[in-house]
Amino acid sequence: MRRSHERSWPNERFLVELSQPTQKIPTPAEWDMAVLRLLKTELPFSRGKLSLELEVEAKRRGIAFSSDAYLELWKKKQKLPRGDWAHIEKAALEISSHLGMLRPGGPPNKANKLRAEPLRTWVSCADRIQAIFFGQQAAQELTEGRLEIATGSLDIILSYKPDGVSMHLSPHDTGSALVYHASQMMTGGTVLQICEQCKSSFLSGGEARGGGKRRGDARFCSDRCRSQFHNEARRKAMRKAKL
Ligand SMILES: [Zn+2]
Repeated sequence: MRRSHERSWPNERFLVELSQPTQKIPTPAEWDMAVLRLLKTELPFSRGKLSLELEVEAKRRGIAFSSDAYLELWKKKQKLPRGDWAHIEKAALEISSHLGMLRPGGPPNKANKLRAEPLRTWVSCADRIQAIFFGQQAAQELTEGRLEIATGSLDIILSYKPDGVSMHLSPHDTGSALVYHASQMMTGGTVLQICEQCKSSFLSGGEARGGGKRRGDARFCSDRCRSQFHNEARRKAMRKAKL
C-alpha cells in the first residue's frame, strides 16, 4: 500500500544507485561543499525555512499566531514562486558523488532492484539547512524573545562491552549527518554571506574552516573578487580625479 503523502508526487524523480556502492569517509571539505551547495539551491517547496520566515515576519508585524492575519500571511507565502525540480536534481547528482545518498530506500518501482531515494528527501534536507542559516540572520533583527527550530535528530546508541557500557549519539543516515554538520558549522561561527563583487553566496568564519580560513566578516568570496573590487574602485576614483 502506498502512503498518502506519496500520492501527491505522481511524477516525482528518484536518485537511483547504478553501481555497487563503496565505503568511504567524506572529508570535512566535502561536507562543507555539500552544505554550501544546498544553501544555494532554489527549492521547489519549503517547510522548515518557510515556517521560520513566517514566524519572523509575524513577530516583526505583531501578528498573533492564531489570528486571521497570520493565516493570510501563510497563504501569501505558500503562493510565492519556487524553484524548479531541476536545480535540486543537479545538486543531488553532484553531492551524491561525494557523500552518497542521504537516506536510500527500496527501488521506486518493481521493474528494478536498485536502491533509490525520492528527490523530495534532498529538498527536505536542503530546506533544513537553509532554515539553519536563515535563523542565524533573522535572530539579529529580533528585539525580544527567541526563535527555535527542531532541525534534526540523533540516535541513542548503547555499546555493550565486557568492560562496561557506553552511550553515543549518532546520526542515523547521511541526511541527518549533513544537517548535524551544518548546525555545527553555524553554531561554530560560520556565516552565510554575499560576495560584494560577484554577488554569489559563500560561507565564512568558524572553527571548522581550516586551511584557507576566512574571517567571519569577510566581504568577498575569493582573493580574485577582492582584488577585482579594489581595482574597479581605484579606477573609479581616478576617473573622478580627472574630472
Ligand atoms: Zn565573489
